[in-house]
Amino acid sequence: MREESLKLRPYLDEVGVMIGLEIHVQLNKLNTKIFCGCPLDYHDDGPNTHTCPVCLGLPGSLPVINRKAVEYSIKVGLALNCSIEEHTQFYRKNYYYPDLPKGFQITQYDYPIASSGYINIEGEDGEVRIRINRAHMEEDPGRLVHEGGSIERSKYTLIDYNRSGVALLEIVTEPDIRSPKEARRFLDKLRNILGYLDVVDTTLEGSMRVDANISLSGGSRSEVKNISSHKGAERALLFEIVRQKNLLRRGGKVVQETRHFDEARGVTVSLRTKEEAHDYRYFPEADLVSLRVADWAPGIAKTLPELPDARRQRFITHYSITDDHAKSLTSEKQVADFYEQVAAEVDPKLAAVWIADVLKGELNYRDLGIDAFASASMVQLVKLLAGDKITEQSGVEVIRTILDEGGTPDEVVAAKGLLKAGSDLVTAAVEEVISENPGAVEDYQNGKQEAVNFLMGQVMKKTKGRADAKEVRKMIIQRI
Ligand code: ADP
Ligand code: MG
Ligand code: ZN
Repeated sequence: MREESLKLRPYLDEVGVMIGLEIHVQLNKLNTKIFCGCPLDYHDDGPNTHTCPVCLGLPGSLPVINRKAVEYSIKVGLALNCSIEEHTQFYRKNYYYPDLPKGFQITQYDYPIASSGYINIEGEDGEVRIRINRAHMEEDPGRLVHEGGSIERSKYTLIDYNRSGVALLEIVTEPDIRSPKEARRFLDKLRNILGYLDVVDTTLEGSMRVDANISLSGGSRSEVKNISSHKGAERALLFEIVRQKNLLRRGGKVVQETRHFDEARGVTVSLRTKEEAHDYRYFPEADLVSLRVADWAPGIAKTLPELPDARRQRFITHYSITDDHAKSLTSEKQVADFYEQVAAEVDPKLAAVWIADVLKGELNYRDLGIDAFASASMVQLVKLLAGDKITEQSGVEVIRTILDEGGTPDEVVAAKGLLKAGSDLVTAAVEEVISENPGAVEDYQNGKQEAVNFLMGQVMKKTKGRADAKEVRKMIIQRI
C-alpha cells in the first residue's frame, strides 16, 4: 500500500487531485434512537428486535427529537471548529428504497446544526488545514442483508430495521484533500477526535461510513459510496485516480456518477448517475419544530475535553518528550490517560519510550487495547529499568509475558530470573572466563577483535544472560 502511494505521488500533483469526504458518524453512545425511544444496544440481538411504529415509519406515528443527540452533534461541531447555527431545521429527503420505510429520510438541508469548521492534519509537507463544510443530523436507514453476500449475486434481500432511526451526524469536508493518503490521515484524525468526545464507539461495525468524492484536473467528480474502513477509503481513491487518469488519457470524459467500492476486488464499479438535490424534493419536516440552539453551544463548549492537538502540545512542553512520542501518545484518549498516570510517578521521557515505542507495538501486534495492560505495571516496569535492575531486552520480555500470560513485572522478573546479575557475580565470571581461555585472550592481543565476542558469550553463559552485554564487553577489554 505504502509503495503504491509513493509511486503515484509524482503524477498526483500533475493531474490536480481534489478529494472531498462525506462521513456518516453513528452517535451510537446514545441510549436511544434519534426520533423514538428504541434502545441502541441491539448489536447482540436478533434482527428487527429494536423497533417501534416511529422507526418502522407506520402511518400516524410522530417523531420526537432526542435532546442528547442534538447535544452530541453540537459537541462534535465545536470540536471541529464549526459555528453552531442560531436555529436548526429538519427536512424530508424523499426517495424510495426498502431500507427507508417512510419513503423519506429525515435529514437537514439549509440549516445544518454546524458549519464552516476545519481539522488540521499532517500533509505531505507539513500541517495542512482541511475545511469542514458542514455537519448535519439525520436518521440512519435500516440495514439490507443481501443473501449470498453481494447485491449482484444474491437471490433475495433481508431487511433489519434495528438500525433504522439511529442518530447519524454527516460530516462534509470541502474538497481540500490532495491524496488518498491525506484522506486516510483525515479519517484517522477525525476518529481520534470523536473518541475523545466519547460520542461514538468507533469499534462497532458501520459506526463511520465514508463517501469519497474525487476529481482530477478540474474535471467532473465521481463519488464512491459507503466505504467502511479508512484503509478501504485510501484504496478506493487510489483506484479512482488510476481509472480517471486512464480515461482522460484515452480522450474520454469522467461522468459525474455514484460508484461502489468492491472491497474484495479492490475496484470501484458504477452504480448510477449522480442525483441532484432537486431530485429529492427536499421540504421542511413539519412534524418537528425548528430548534433554537444558539443558547446551547456556550454551555456545551465548557464540557469539551482537551482535544488531541492541544494535548499533544502540552505533552511536548510539560513532559519534554519528542513530537513523535507526543503524537503517538495522544492519538487515543485512553492511551494519553494511561501515559499521564505513569508519567506522574516515573521519568516521563522513559515512560514515553516504553509506552509509545514498545507497549503500543506489542498491543497492536496482538490486536489489544491499552486496557490489556495495567498502568501500575508500567510504573513498576519503568522503575525496574530506571534503577538498572533489568536489561532493556528483559523489559520487552516482561511486557510480552504479561500480555500473553498475565502477572506483574515483579512477578515475571522473579519467575524468569531476569534481575541483572549483581556486579560481584559478573566480575567473578569475567575473571574466570579470562583465566580459562588464554587462547582467546592471546588472539585478541594479536589483533583478532572477534575474540572478545567469544569471551562475552562465555560470560553470558555463566551468568545465564542476566549480565548487561555492553558492560561485560567493557570489563573484558579493560582486563585484557
Ligand atoms: P452534493 O450536493 O452534490 O452532494 P456537495 O457540495 O454537498 O455536493 O459536496 C459533496 C462532497 O463532494 C463534498 O465533500 C465536497 O467536498 C465534494 N466535492 C465537491 N466538488 C468536488 C470536486 N470537484 N472534486 C472532488 N470533490 C468534490
Ligand atoms: Mg451530498
Ligand atoms: Zn423506534
